[in-house]
Amino acid sequence: MSDTTHLDVLIIGAGLSGIDAAYHVTKAFPDKSYAVLEMRDSLGGTWDLFRYPGIRSDSDMHTLGFGWKPWKGTKAIVDGPDILAYLKEAAAENGIDRHIRYHHKLVHAEFSTEDARWTVSVERTDTGETVELTASFLWSTSGYYRYDEGFTPTFAGSEDFEGQIIHPQHWPEDLDYAGKRVVVIGSGATAVTLIPALAGSGAGHVTMLQRTPTYIISQPTYDRVSAEMYRRLPDKLAQKLVRTRYLTSRIAFYEFCQARPKESRALLRKLLERQLPDDVSFDEHFKPPYDPWDQRLCAVPGGDLFKALRHHTVDIVTDHIDRFTPKGILLKSGKELEADIIITATGLNLQIFGGATLGVDGTKVAPSETMAYKGLMLSEIPNFAFIIGYTNASWTLKADLVCEYVVKLLKRMDETGSRIVVPRRDPSVAEEPFLDFEAGYVMRSIDSLPKQGATFPWRLKMNYFKDVLVFRKPVEDESLEFSA
Ligand SMILES: Cc1cc2nc3c(=O)[nH]c(=O)nc-3n(C[C@H](O)[C@H](O)[C@H](O)COP(=O)(O)OP(=O)(O)OC[C@H]3O[C@@H](n4cnc5c(N)ncnc54)[C@H](O)[C@@H]3O)c2cc1C
Repeated sequence: MSDTTHLDVLIIGAGLSGIDAAYHVTKAFPDKSYAVLEMRDSLGGTWDLFRYPGIRSDSDMHTLGFGWKPWKGTKAIVDGPDILAYLKEAAAENGIDRHIRYHHKLVHAEFSTEDARWTVSVERTDTGETVELTASFLWSTSGYYRYDEGFTPTFAGSEDFEGQIIHPQHWPEDLDYAGKRVVVIGSGATAVTLIPALAGSGAGHVTMLQRTPTYIISQPTYDRVSAEMYRRLPDKLAQKLVRTRYLTSRIAFYEFCQARPKESRALLRKLLERQLPDDVSFDEHFKPPYDPWDQRLCAVPGGDLFKALRHHTVDIVTDHIDRFTPKGILLKSGKELEADIIITATGLNLQIFGGATLGVDGTKVAPSETMAYKGLMLSEIPNFAFIIGYTNASWTLKADLVCEYVVKLLKRMDETGSRIVVPRRDPSVAEEPFLDFEAGYVMRSIDSLPKQGATFPWRLKMNYFKDVLVFRKPVEDESLEFSA
């Protein structure tokens, strides 16, 4: 591992996005120096952190996998450990692992226009020391949520509960739930993953306790068509066909939901009602008060949640929590759910840039005061890019596009002898919230995020095909200022 203190490119975070960024730098600029700072002791980010039973993707791995490393497995919805193994393999195959500096947490980055470089303060999470590095270009790939703490609302009486309370983000390796009564609070992707997995691996009984239902759609566990394409066709062609197949069907379904909410609600109802046992009411438990895809739609492979409901190893309760009691949870309806273990699958705390602060020439810049340029740079912040993936499709699709764009941007800087590139904000462009997405974790933190603008190139597109057109254009435009 190189321990240089000045880097041409400094990448923050060794998750999926950081590995993608490092791959692109390695391939496009074999002569540029780069490092990936990672605050933990391992790579993989999300896919290393979350260890609850059943942890898996809910988008298909053909598009969650990198454009440059085809996923050839027969499963499209893939278990967390397999995704982690794929990421480790991707890093090792391309020598990226040798560039990762573990236990390095970015705390503050300060840009000097005079020197055309960043000076970054890094905390060594193993020794507590502070290390200083400099970099010409800073690239934040630190995900979108806090690692040290998942989100748990305050529940009155939680201190009275005599059993265990667990947040899925901090799953104890030795948690013994065999034969126990488990209540899982939540209705999002984590809850619907965890519930059938607990029921299928020895829990006595599992109750899904939700305040508001979520749209849930069943997906086939195996995708033999794609596996067959990889078997019969050259890898590149197979990947192109498989990804196009997934992309078009996903995006078409998303657009259909947004354009035709009434019809999409009816379709989702029809698909789901077939799988529910007679004693589980669709209207009570599976009819959200919002339209499909106003919040993330949950996929369940092979209808595993519905199978568990049919086998009565799981039941579902839609109600509001009044308080925790010594024996379980008292609901507003007056019913009490008894539990040995309560799992709070209540979400994430959104955080951008890994909580690091940014400054330019001695002035601190709050991300909320900036406007995102093409969803990957920030107004008035020089030589800086970030990756935040799609909320309605696989994260990696956007990550791959951002990586291609940053490569073009760095090449353009080299060609023009520019040492600084910065998006300059146009005051006439109206501000809008960064994400037009009603999920709880977004709404709780929307004020701390950068803004997006009402018009191009400040407007964020949540559509891969539209983004392809934007990102593949030449980099220069009137909002981007290059200088020597
Ligand atoms: C349970 C769960 C399931 C998900 N399922 C899907 C899915 O099916 N499909 C999908 O598209 N998306 C999914 N997501 C979103 C998911 O986070 C992305 O798919 C993807 O893993 C994000 O990769 P990333 O590298 O950008 O961020 P992360 O995976 O969060 O990695 C960020 C890395 O940066 C490091 N880091 C953070 N701050 C600092 C700092 N200050 N200094 C140094 N290092 C730092 C972290 O330690 C981590 O290693 C899921 C998320 C969760 C939580």
